[in-house]
Amino acid sequence: MGNERADVLVIGSGAAGAALSKRLTDLGAKVVCLEQGDWINPADYPSTRPDWEISIRRGPFHVSPNIRRRPEDYPVVELGKDPPYVQMFNAVGGSTIHYTAHFPRFHPSDFRVRTLDGVADDWPISYSELEPYYDMNDREMGVAGLAGDPANPPRPERPTPPLPIGPLGEELGRGFDKLGWHWWVAENGIISRPYDGRPGCDLHGKCTYGCPIGAKASADVTYWPKALKKGAVLKTWARVREISVDEKGMARGAIYHDRQGALQEQLAKVVAICCNGVGTPRLLLNSKSKLFPAGLANSSGLVGRNFMMHAWQQVAGVSSEAIDTTVGPRGVAVASQQFYETDFKRGFVRGYSFQASPTFGPLSYAWAGYAAPALPWGADHHRTFRQRFPRLLSIWVQGEDLPMESNRVELDPEVKDSSGIPAPRVTYAHSENTRRLMEHGAARAREVLQAAGCTEILDGGLHQPAWHLMGTARMGNDSRKSVVNAWHQAHDVKNLFIVDGSSFTTAAAVNPTSTIGALALRCADGMWERRRDWT
Ligand SMILES: Cc1cc2nc3c(=O)[nH]c(=O)nc-3n(C[C@H](O)[C@H](O)[C@H](O)COP(=O)(O)OP(=O)(O)OC[C@H]3O[C@@H](n4cnc5c(N)ncnc54)[C@H](O)[C@@H]3O)c2cc1C
Ligand code: SF4
Repeated sequence: MGNERADVLVIGSGAAGAALSKRLTDLGAKVVCLEQGDWINPADYPSTRPDWEISIRRGPFHVSPNIRRRPEDYPVVELGKDPPYVQMFNAVGGSTIHYTAHFPRFHPSDFRVRTLDGVADDWPISYSELEPYYDMNDREMGVAGLAGDPANPPRPERPTPPLPIGPLGEELGRGFDKLGWHWWVAENGIISRPYDGRPGCDLHGKCTYGCPIGAKASADVTYWPKALKKGAVLKTWARVREISVDEKGMARGAIYHDRQGALQEQLAKVVAICCNGVGTPRLLLNSKSKLFPAGLANSSGLVGRNFMMHAWQQVAGVSSEAIDTTVGPRGVAVASQQFYETDFKRGFVRGYSFQASPTFGPLSYAWAGYAAPALPWGADHHRTFRQRFPRLLSIWVQGEDLPMESNRVELDPEVKDSSGIPAPRVTYAHSENTRRLMEHGAARAREVLQAAGCTEILDGGLHQPAWHLMGTARMGNDSRKSVVNAWHQAHDVKNLFIVDGSSFTTAAAVNPTSTIGALALRCADGMWERRRDWT
């Protein structure tokens, strides 16, 4: 297909764009997807190289687009009292190339925080409406886990059995047990057995920087091969500059730079933006026109506002025994949701989860990490290194981040990408509720590590890794308080849909990607049911 008019134009090929394209193609729609990046050859991943720990700290696989500066990346300006450290990957599969692949679901309460806790807003949909799509997304992506977690609604048997929890999971499991707190084998988008034509994980353990065998469920190896087989068209090196609109204020298509930098227009009956919680508001704000002078779909003024990214703090304990937690799949070994739901007695609303993940390799022990400061250089270096390596048991506290309008994505007045398109700038500050919640979480993490027998505790304090990008085109029933409706349809532009993490009303206290995929599948069904409205 050249630039022939598509039924649905999907912009962005990450978790959301891939699921949406596959489902719509299965249903019979003619889908074209524009992606600014390219296919990544798994042989290029740093995870296959002996110097992988160096190559993830510099060069083309760094987590920050500001540092790796691939030609397809765009710069992100980071501002505010607590500047976010924005992380994403721009390629076929989007940030799932880099994600750690922990694959939990939201709780039913996450969709009703206004009703239950009097904060933020309720989602216009419920957990039970999304549940069949969570199941479908799990089957498409391939998940390893164990059904029966008492902190969550029942799930069908997981597509593959759980990954081994390893010595890290066993030690921390003992710590949680001593305290009588909930823990469960974590769910991961990493298949433990051959599944759906992909091989099972070989446990070599560097998943965050790309799985060389395709065991990790990145969208380039899950949804895309199937979508392409069914007829979806994926154009790479297609960087969208703006959404074009007609004189009636309907989306006409997208104007994009092709591989040579020339401008092209792709026309479509329906346009779906899936560029993530930073890229999507950037594109909407860059799509100004006479009819939409404040940016597309922005009559509420909320495009870019309510940016959420979760609060993070890593607390690590030095075990008296040598326990090599640098091996095994990155994912998450065990998780605890003991403090997930609101308990007003704690002095904050909503809650947090604990995630125990393997640590990186020896070089990461020497360099500063999220939990530990850099080792001293000089005489003390080797002694301190031997004290810590390989002995660190690490717990991440992941806190719910409630929406605040002042946390936002805007266009930077000066910085532009290599095509001259204004770059986003992201301003962020933690709320008082977040600080209290994370202080509580870090103190409880210390208790678990002590219960697990750790002798020294390292705590790097509250950080701002922004690898979960949410809320900047939020979903709701009221067009004055939200950007899209319950079907991801823009209140202002009826044939425009916003499908990625931007559409989240609230952020929950778990990782977002299984919810992003489930929402995209549900959105595809909603679009297809209403296809008579397509012109
Ligand atoms: C280091 C790291 C670890 C993570 N770990 C986890 C985890 O364990 N569990 C979890 O649930 N989530 C995790 N995440 C988050 C997860 O990767 C994202 O939630 C998910 O990929 C978001 O999906 P998306 O489709 O919204 O956006 P993305 O996957 O980011 O895809 C957006 C795509 O849009 C393209 N795009 C953007 N703008 C344009 C444009 N103008 N024109 C054309 N194309 C464009 C981009 O190139 C990109 O490919 C992690 C992320 C990172 C970076
Ligand atoms: S540990 Fe498993 S999922 Fe991770 S990179 Fe290795 S094979 Fe892939």
